[in-house]
Amino acid sequence: MTAKSIIRIDSAPPRHWVGDGFHVHSMFSYNQDAHLYSPFLMLDYGAPYRCEPRDVASGATPRGVGSHPHRGFETVTIAYSGEVAHRDSSGGGGIIGVGDVQWMTAGSGLVHDEFHSPAFSQAGGEMHMVQLWVNLPAKDKMTKPGYQAITQSSIPQATLDVASTRVGSVRVIAGEYAGNQGAAKTFTPMNVWDVRIAAGQTVSLPQPEGWTTLVLVQSGAVTVNGSRAAGSAQLVMLSRNGTDVSITASADTQLLLLAGEPINEPVVGYGPFVMNTEQEIRQAFVDFNAGKFGQIIE
Ligand code: MN
Repeated sequence: MTAKSIIRIDSAPPRHWVGDGFHVHSMFSYNQDAHLYSPFLMLDYGAPYRCEPRDVASGATPRGVGSHPHRGFETVTIAYSGEVAHRDSSGGGGIIGVGDVQWMTAGSGLVHDEFHSPAFSQAGGEMHMVQLWVNLPAKDKMTKPGYQAITQSSIPQATLDVASTRVGSVRVIAGEYAGNQGAAKTFTPMNVWDVRIAAGQTVSLPQPEGWTTLVLVQSGAVTVNGSRAAGSAQLVMLSRNGTDVSITASADTQLLLLAGEPINEPVVGYGPFVMNTEQEIRQAFVDFNAGKFGQIIE
């Protein structure tokens, strides 16, 4: 097997607020080099930060992002700590708690909001989350909106073993690892894995030839394919050529591995709408302004 080479390692840019609830590093977005990241469109990394309690029981508003639309792709919210409450116009909704994942298919269009849950708002604490946007192929962009509420217990967890000793784990959010099928249904082939590796260990996490392959280091420190070091809040992009991905952890490490078959279609986006042509973007505004995305169901 041939090793994938390292194309680039990007450090997290300064954080920005999404609404008043999510303090994130935008690791990449479709506005720049969209073809390199396909099928992924955007990665907002909410590195751990402390939220002060807010007395929502006495009427204070939870932190978050109010009603807004999406069309043409999927949003994937992964909670590591803290809790996010969500409601949308397709009737989906619920609490994304620690270890849970929400895989929302915006498809033809929906409106949703994303707030800290009432309980988390009241108590305060650490918020650590990721929001990933996954593109849909042209033929599926106008699919019916949908929602997969994936609880922690429904995500298969495989152990990473070296010489019969457990050295880490892979939670298979999407895709497949060592015979464990991911919890999420996806429109195109991809792996979304929550990976932990103990300090001093080297693991092999091969990815298919031709796939986009990205590693977000959340905590710890790694060397990828024996060459380049990456640390906390850095994103490693590997080549599509090759298959081998070998990761050595020099400290206890948590990382998010994203790999997927590229969708070789034009990406034309404007904010919360990502389509294939300018005309489709204009149509998204027309449809949204005409109320065709519906309303949040209380
Ligand atoms: Mn949203």
